[in-house]
Amino acid sequence: MSRFDAMYPICGPDCNCGMLCKRACAIDEHYASRLAFMLECMLVDSHGHWNAAASLLDEYKAEWEKVNPSPPTFMGEPNHTTEKAVG
Ligand SMILES: [Zn+2]
Repeated sequence: MSRFDAMYPICGPDCNCGMLCKRACAIDEHYASRLAFMLECMLVDSHGHWNAAASLLDEYKAEWEKVNPSPPTFMGEPNHTTEKAVG
């Protein structure tokens, strides 16, 4: 259970809790600064921070997936976005 599950237990694809879902806003606020910082780290030393940046990005996308699940298929084709790059 993530901090967002605890803070916004009813939020999901159909919550309609505002113009933009409060949980979605909280997720963006939480991750935006961390992702920006990670990007700066990668500019200094891309090799040393690649895995940490990738896992932070996965964490962010996983939180968004709970609020706004991506469609199982895109234009009828299998969706490959879940495949992970080898790093
Ligand atoms: Zn919501």
